[in-house]
Amino acid sequence: APTIGVFALQGDVREHTRALEEAGARAVAVRRPGELEKVDGLVIPGGESTTMWKLAEIFELLEPLRQRIKGGMPAYGSCAGMIMLADRIEGGIEGQQTVGGIDMVVRRNAFGRQVDSFEADLDFAGRGAIRAIFIRAPWVESVGSDVEVLARAEAGDRIVAVRQGPLLATSFHPELTGDVGVHSYFVDMVREL
Ligand code: GLN
Repeated sequence: APTIGVFALQGDVREHTRALEEAGARAVAVRRPGELEKVDGLVIPGGESTTMWKLAEIFELLEPLRQRIKGGMPAYGSCAGMIMLADRIEGGIEGQQTVGGIDMVVRRNAFGRQVDSFEADLDFAGRGAIRAIFIRAPWVESVGSDVEVLARAEAGDRIVAVRQGPLLATSFHPELTGDVGVHSYFVDMVREL
């Protein structure tokens, strides 16, 4: 089984760990560069992207993350993790940085105050419906030509799941449902690389 790290400085680490194991991977927490070196792929969980960025800098994990992603390591980001994988963000705090890797613009807290949280059934990667939970979720404002759109919400208006080569991102939290379809898709990506 592939060894998949979960970025564990902030976010819903336990839920992703459980979903990865159910999807057939060995999941390990990643808090330091030495731990990052040993994994075949990485999940960046849901949580708070501003805190993730600050902690990644303090724990000297931001540059190593960028380097591994440049080197082709598969990574999957959900919600705050999607923000972390975006090359460009809107609605970030002053100076907010990301790890980057996916050629897209992601808008933080895009789904607005009136609907901070909601659930929807979405077609994911043409594999049929999955349950998606959105919590103060971002959406993808625009994507570059190398980015594949895997799911849309709001009657097709909003891009909420994308893939660019070995990088996967969702606006929503599949780790909070019983459905490990998205995690299985990512584990397959790691196996293929
Ligand atoms: N709004 C959060 C952020 O900007 C993301 C919310 C989430 O991960 N559920 O990081």
